[in-house]
Amino acid sequence: MTIKDPRRTEGVAPPSIHVGRLILAPRDSELCPDRDRLIRTLSEAGFIADPILDRECAFLVGPEFSALLAFVGCAVAIADDPQIGGPFCHVVVPQASAHPRWCHGRNTGAPRCPACRARSSDWPSPFKQVALELARGHRSASVVCPSCGRAHPIRSWDWKQQGGFARLLVQVEEIFPGEAVPTDGLFDLLERASGCAWRHFYVQD
Ligand SMILES: [Zn+2]
Repeated sequence: MTIKDPRRTEGVAPPSIHVGRLILAPRDSELCPDRDRLIRTLSEAGFIADPILDRECAFLVGPEFSALLAFVGCAVAIADDPQIGGPFCHVVVPQASAHPRWCHGRNTGAPRCPACRARSSDWPSPFKQVALELARGHRSASVVCPSCGRAHPIRSWDWKQQGGFARLLVQVEEIFPGEAVPTDGLFDLLERASGCAWRHFYVQD
C-alpha cells in the first residue's frame, strides 16, 4: 500500500487524464440511504480512515481497504499517500442528491434496450437530454429505442459497468475500470449500512 503502481508512472495515462473511479451505488437508484450511517459503517470496518482536509467529502483509505476490494491482475500496488503527488487512492462519499444523477464518462458506451437488447444507435444525444430531466425530478424520464420503437425509462437501460444512476454513492479514486472489484464482504457491509442491495460500475472523466 505504499508503492506507486508502476503503470501509472510510465505513460499509460498522463497525469492530466483521470485514470478512473469505481462507483458503488444502490441497485435501486431512487433509494437514498443515510449517508452518516454509511460513513460510520465504512469507517468502523476499516474501508476508510480520516477525512482528507482539503478535499470535500474525501477520506483516506483504511487498513482493510485492500482486503475489501479484489484487485485484478498481478502485484498491483496502490499509492495511498496524497503527499507523493499524482493519482492516489482515496474514497469520496458525495452529499446525496434529491434525484438520481447520471454517472458517466468517456468510457460509457451506448446502453442496451431493456426490452429488445439492441444497443441504442441514438447514443448519446437523447440520453444526455433525458438524464437532465431525471435530475430535475422527472422520475419516468424515458428514451425511445430506435430498434423496437418503444420508450423506456432511462434508468432501466442496461449500462453494463460503464455507468449508472444514483442519489447516494461511494467513489473509489483512482481505479482503472475493472482493476478492482468489490468483494462480497464489501457488498455485505454496504447492505448492512443501508438495508438495500448495491451494485458497482466504473467511470473515467
Ligand atoms: Zn428496444
